[in-house]
Amino acid sequence: MTKAPPYVNEEVATRDFKYYIFDWDDNILHMPTKIRMEHKGEDGEWSPVEVSTATFAMIRSDVEHYRPPKDGGWDAAFRNFADQPGRNTFIEDTITALERIEHGEIPGPSYNALKKTLREGRIFAIVTARGHSPETIEKAVRIFIRYALTEDERQQMFSNLRGYRKCFDGVTEFGTDAEELDYYLGMCRYSAVTHDRFRERMEADPIYQEKLATATNASKPELAKEFAIRDFVEHIFHTLQRNGGLGRSVSIGFSDDDKGNVKSVSSYIRQELSKRFDGIKFVVYDTSDRTLSKGRKVCVSGQLNLPGF
Ligand SMILES: [Mg+2]
Repeated sequence: MTKAPPYVNEEVATRDFKYYIFDWDDNILHMPTKIRMEHKGEDGEWSPVEVSTATFAMIRSDVEHYRPPKDGGWDAAFRNFADQPGRNTFIEDTITALERIEHGEIPGPSYNALKKTLREGRIFAIVTARGHSPETIEKAVRIFIRYALTEDERQQMFSNLRGYRKCFDGVTEFGTDAEELDYYLGMCRYSAVTHDRFRERMEADPIYQEKLATATNASKPELAKEFAIRDFVEHIFHTLQRNGGLGRSVSIGFSDDDKGNVKSVSSYIRQELSKRFDGIKFVVYDTSDRTLSKGRKVCVSGQLNLPGF
């Protein structure tokens, strides 16, 4: 039997500050949600076809053979990827994906990394091309905690969360587990970049207004992911600034199974983020190769200039 974790794990005070940004589909979970496209057959005729997210990542640049439905365009293609009145397909599909794992299916390449992040009580962000509200994504994370973590792992998570609250917020009286979980998940970020509120926020940002004006349609989702990442990095920076953590070793990891996203995010980090936040180490994980259990690790930018904020 493993030893029960302490009620408050004060050892978190000596840990490095590591944060993670996760893409959801095929990175954490293989979701059953399908994208509606049209495929051009050998006879030159277009016919409707439903593709998985994994297939979509491979065919999305093949505009000669695949296109979004003529009727409704990209909105119609991704109808199942947004909240719909009366039912929540994201929650249903998350449960289906988690139940399949319980029945032996192989999870996404970053599934264990999210488990570890939660167990350690570290702040993270979910950044997805989906169109759900942040509340929906947060709910899916709560379901993930219930299904993917064992009781022992959940106790470790609470022990670490109380540790962070004590060491960095000076809290000595803790809330119930449910209250501590609310507080923790409230510190994390959930960005579905095609959700209306996200789009509005991005369009109101002067820098992104300019970037969007010259972007091609195909590069817009990548630009939106960039915006979500900048948002999270700023959030982390301000959080560290508040509790005096900026002199420490800080790293932020990003994982995605879409090669296009990996490429554009890597160059965004190199060209902009690593210059603006030069005390932070950025690590990008390309998880497009399903034969590797943890994906491929690509270190984009090391901590070139230590502390010095
Ligand atoms: Mg993905």
